[in-house]
Amino acid sequence: MTSPKPRVRFAPSPTGYLHVGGARTALYNWLFARHESGIFILRIEDTDAERSTEESAGAILDAMHWLGLDWDEGPEVGGPLGPYRQADRLDLYREYARKLLEDGKAYYCVCTPEELEVRRKAALAAGRSLKYDGRCRERGNRRPSSGRGGLVGAAGAAVRLLIRESGTIEIADLVHGPIRFEDADLDDFILLRSDGMPTYNFAVVIDDVLMGITHVIRGDDHISNTPRQIKLYEALDLPLPRFAHIPMILGPDRSRLSKRHGAMGVMAYKEMGYLPEAMVNYLARLGWSHGDQEIFAPEEMIRHFTLEKVGRTAAVFDPVKLEWLNGQYLKQSAPERLVPLIRPFWEASGVNREEVGRKDDAWLEAALRLFQERARTLAELASSSRFVFEGKIERDEAAVRKILTPEAKARLLALLQDIDVLSAFTTALLERLFRARAETLGLKLVDLAQPFRVALSGKAVSPPIFPIMELMGPELVRRRVEEALEEEG
Ligand code: GLU
Repeated sequence: MTSPKPRVRFAPSPTGYLHVGGARTALYNWLFARHESGIFILRIEDTDAERSTEESAGAILDAMHWLGLDWDEGPEVGGPLGPYRQADRLDLYREYARKLLEDGKAYYCVCTPEELEVRRKAALAAGRSLKYDGRCRERGNRRPSSGRGGLVGAAGAAVRLLIRESGTIEIADLVHGPIRFEDADLDDFILLRSDGMPTYNFAVVIDDVLMGITHVIRGDDHISNTPRQIKLYEALDLPLPRFAHIPMILGPDRSRLSKRHGAMGVMAYKEMGYLPEAMVNYLARLGWSHGDQEIFAPEEMIRHFTLEKVGRTAAVFDPVKLEWLNGQYLKQSAPERLVPLIRPFWEASGVNREEVGRKDDAWLEAALRLFQERARTLAELASSSRFVFEGKIERDEAAVRKILTPEAKARLLALLQDIDVLSAFTTALLERLFRARAETLGLKLVDLAQPFRVALSGKAVSPPIFPIMELMGPELVRRRVEEALEEEG
């Protein structure tokens, strides 16, 4: 018998942006589905009306799109597919709660939060267990007591699962191996609150069942929920999915990754000038490996991804490595692709938008081709290349003092006159001219190129100067050099 096609889901709660850990969970689910030719589902877990916001749901979708994590199913709501949203599925949870009540596997609980709190405090004082004391279980409530509401979902009574203790539960976690849970630690937890809203553990299981989820791949902060969820599968008489709990992510100081360690939201990396493929590659390697390979094309990641190769220990988030990886991707990217991405970064670095608009794509691509080799982010690429545009530049004081000496300025002036009579303003002719000049003056090429570099870019380091000159054109080169001659050395 062939096993069914694997079906997995990523199930974020829209209570904030998509953070690095969530994005990695989404990616592992997506890679697993793609590797197995299975189905990847996105499910927004928005039943907590107080903490869920539309804005967060939108932000999560934006991040999924940016990372290229596409999902395969969802309700048809006109327009693009899905995702599923739990808030649209409340009737389903209520229906299952009713079924569990009818089968005697759940019961109504009319204990109010205040009553529970009083009993909890008393238990604490007496050194007894803090679990729900089962008062309504003993009452055998299949329906809420009179005066306290009516059917499932009506105000007044919550629905609890009747836990049948069976000793221990053991799962073969696909990352951690066998994990055992003691039944005695569980209490009759709430499935539906008295306002008819499902709890997380209940909605997750019902949806995982209805969506035919075969593998639950999620962060290991959910391990403690797993035994409760298993009890629900048992109550529903349904086979368990496989579980894979992914270890959490630590900061470089080995404490749990948090804001202290830098940006947590995936889209903050977009804003800092990271490419989505670098982010995806980095996240994939954050806890998964394939030999020593660091750089993976998406097809390679899909081909090699298996849960067996996900590590059992926490991964450490290393911003320096992420930046390095991004640099590798920037270097390889076709300039045509980078042009639209870098425009906002040029603007942010102070280049006038109209001016960028006046340049044609071929010119912008040629500019990027000169600089992309050395930059690690789009922001860095924008700031290192901004001087090739018209506006004013600030020159590095130390570079001016050291390199724009009176002697160097005299050479700049002389070369400017030579340049004026060049038949064409090309890299090859400029280089030939500079070499010839250096030779007649008994200097090295760098002695002439370096003052030009500082004059044009304001810095002592830049890509090769002749192609930059060709790109900037004679008028801008002349103007920059003239400005440089005015600098106080
Ligand atoms: N909604 C849960 C969360 O955002 C995920 C639950 C799960 O994957 O089972 O943490």
